[in-house]
Amino acid sequence: MIAILRKSASDDAVNHLVSWIEKKGLQTNVSYGENEIVIGLVGDTTKIDPFLLESMDIVERVQRVSEPFKKANRKFHPADTVVDCGHGVKIGGGNFQVIAGPCSVEGKNLLTIARRVKKAGATMLRGGAFKPRTSPYAYQGMGAEGLDLLIEAAGELDMPIVTEVMDPRDVQLFVDRGIDVMQIGARNAQNFPLLKEIGKTTTPVLLKRGMSGTIDELLMAAEYIMSEGNENVILCERGIRTFETRTRNTFDLNAVPVLHYLSHLPVVADPSHATGYTRYVEPMALAACAAGADGLEIEVHDCPEKAWSDGSQALTPDQFDRTMDRIRAIRAVISTGDDQS
Ligand code: PEP
Ligand code: MN
Repeated sequence: MIAILRKSASDDAVNHLVSWIEKKGLQTNVSYGENEIVIGLVGDTTKIDPFLLESMDIVERVQRVSEPFKKANRKFHPADTVVDCGHGVKIGGGNFQVIAGPCSVEGKNLLTIARRVKKAGATMLRGGAFKPRTSPYAYQGMGAEGLDLLIEAAGELDMPIVTEVMDPRDVQLFVDRGIDVMQIGARNAQNFPLLKEIGKTTTPVLLKRGMSGTIDELLMAAEYIMSEGNENVILCERGIRTFETRTRNTFDLNAVPVLHYLSHLPVVADPSHATGYTRYVEPMALAACAAGADGLEIEVHDCPEKAWSDGSQALTPDQFDRTMDRIRAIRAVISTGDDQS
């Protein structure tokens, strides 16, 4: 349920209404928009009489929110959410960012790659230290040592790090190391204990869509994190599994405008995992920009044929230079003038 208040409502009157609702055992979400103030009510709304609420002077109207996701719902929070990823980098609400780096952290070459992606214009550094691999015999990542290499690179380049956490027991390690953005990978998009554990932190989260996850399931995964208190969620479309075999996944670019319509959270697109082939990454990165993504996540490796994972979809630093030029070009074409970056 949401209560849409008159713009003229005083702070005192809003606070009074919020505490009245909270005393009934519900949580509230207050959002100040340009033309109205919206209070989102989360919990057992049968405890609230909508007619009584609507009869209050400051309340313009009351609306039921039928979707099961509440905190992630744009009806609760009409304005775009801007997530602060640290190092002065914000995403959402017109702030566009490119997250780039290798699939896996492999060693000292991370710094070489990081310098090149930063020079090309990437604003956030990615790299997996804990890798979710389909085979238990495949490379599983460097673990905590990989986090240290990321931290060293981020320190030198003053860029936020995005890296995947797979196990609820590792969340505290990521928090202690000051990881800027925790990624939840496609394979963990419905790992509810992990979502809840990350929800208890304040670290921004890049939440990827599950391999066979619907848009609603992605939003419910976000709701798991947000309902625990962490509202710094960035959604990520990374392709879904379909009958098509010519690409690693099918890039569902519909999801970008659909997610913007349904939710206020920033939306990133990942053309690397969506296509699985270097040759398709650039065109689909450009398409994602045109579709309105708030950011891109792109895998880059200094020597893709030697990469320990996902070499087939990595761009070389030279290819990434060109892709960044074209991303800037397409963004200039679609820009409305109110973009921040
Ligand atoms: C990754 O980002 O390297 C990764 C494993 O992504 P996904 O979870 O989308 O497959
Ligand atoms: Mn990868």
